[in-house]
Amino acid sequence: MKKIVKLLSVLMLMFAFVACGDKKEEAKVEEKGPLYVGTNAEFPPFEYLEEGKVVGFDIDFINAIGKELGREVVVKDMSFDGLLPALQTKKVDIVVAGMTATEERQKAVNFSQPYYMANQVIIVPESNTTITNFDDLAGKKVAVMLGFTGDVVVSEMPNVQVERFNAAYAGIMALQAGKVDAVVLDSETANNYVAQNKGLKLAEGQGESEAYAIAVRKDDSQLLDEINTAIDKIKADGTFGEIIEKYFN
Ligand code: GLN
Repeated sequence: MKKIVKLLSVLMLMFAFVACGDKKEEAKVEEKGPLYVGTNAEFPPFEYLEEGKVVGFDIDFINAIGKELGREVVVKDMSFDGLLPALQTKKVDIVVAGMTATEERQKAVNFSQPYYMANQVIIVPESNTTITNFDDLAGKKVAVMLGFTGDVVVSEMPNVQVERFNAAYAGIMALQAGKVDAVVLDSETANNYVAQNKGLKLAEGQGESEAYAIAVRKDDSQLLDEINTAIDKIKADGTFGEIIEKYFN
């Protein structure tokens, strides 16, 4: 009799354990809270402010991904050099900021599949005839944005006087005021500033191409997989093409 009681209680315990496990599984699925996205809204047309709201290519892109994942997207605007620290300290779940998947950054975070190819270009005053490529920057005062890939490229060049700014428009203003000779910046954003500011042009030479991707914490491989699958899906169903069309054509 004792044995039967013992057996029964063991069975009940096992049942309770399994049932509890099931509940945990369910909770996991239901728990899909908002997806917190870090960006820096000073990088048009990828992200910028319009009537106080963060808008742009990356925002449409991540909203389309959020829809695929069934998660609400909450965008948090912060300084560019604060983005990866915010990701590491779990203040955001991912970073979508026209961020180039550099080798250096890949030591700290994982990147999704690339979603946009860009390169560094040089912006000069329209009247400038001496700067046509990156070699011509030697001996010149060049504006870059702190921590951007342009900062890395120009800082490696010998004899360049590097002036670091916190935002692209600050570098553009310094160029317009004649405080620097050139600005080195990502191609699309540079095109944007040149189109909107009279008296500026792009120099002919271009830097190597670089790939923009979404940054995810190293230990978040499931989210990374989900994002990559969602990107495949929105590329296949035409949503991604529509967003490209909206901002670049
Ligand atoms: N692509 C550049 C980088 O990753 C600039 C990105 C940005 O300013 N948002 O450094």
